[in-house]
Amino acid sequence: MLFDTHVHLNADQFNDDLEDVIERAKERNVEKMVVVGFDEPTINRAMELIEKYDFMYASVGWHPVDAIDMKDEHLTWIEELAAHPKVVAIGEMGLDYHWDKSPKDIQKEVFRRQIRLARKVNLPIIIHNRDATEDVITILKEESVEEVGGIMHCFTGSIEVAKQCMGMNMYISFGGPVTFKNAKKPKEVAAEIPLDKLLIETDCPYLTPHPYRGKRNEPAYVSYVAEQIAELKGISYDELAKHTTENALKLFRIND
Ligand SMILES: [Zn+2]
Repeated sequence: MLFDTHVHLNADQFNDDLEDVIERAKERNVEKMVVVGFDEPTINRAMELIEKYDFMYASVGWHPVDAIDMKDEHLTWIEELAAHPKVVAIGEMGLDYHWDKSPKDIQKEVFRRQIRLARKVNLPIIIHNRDATEDVITILKEESVEEVGGIMHCFTGSIEVAKQCMGMNMYISFGGPVTFKNAKKPKEVAAEIPLDKLLIETDCPYLTPHPYRGKRNEPAYVSYVAEQIAELKGISYDELAKHTTENALKLFRIND
């Protein structure tokens, strides 16, 4: 069994053929997934999906690119949703310095407020980091993230950064980019992450793994990520699947 820890099946790209997408995921033994909402429409859709499908769980938060749009009532709303038994994490949250829609100070404030909320409701967090590693690490430290832990989503950093994160109770999650032919560094880093700290994800519909790079991503393709990391670590696919699934169930406190 595989656990895709980061999907956006709540995106419009899946409106027309969601049932087929789910069918293909089941064929590849992708038996659980976390649907990530990061603004009003995607959170609403994630909550609909977890009511409809027993194998879907949700993470709710506010994306750093849109930090400037987050109002106090959004945070209150996220806190209310966190009480739902199938909401298993807060996020995705973090910092994104690639796009400049939201100024850095506002991103940082919205990030800090969400970590505090996660600690209040006692749920792990899901981190989005783009071109902002130093500030992300500083904030994680200052906000005592180790109390709840969480996931460095679609990790592409160095082993040193991975170690700092693991030291703060964070799991390291790899997606499609680890399968790219030219992804030398992510491959080296993935090979070094201990099995009890490793997670896999698609981030679908984005970041499609080889050999489907360029097409729409979907949860079935998390099997390519699993295959790649098993090969890098020199272990069997089944062993990689077993550990990453156990890690996800433990982090999200799912016991069925
Ligand atoms: Zn995402």
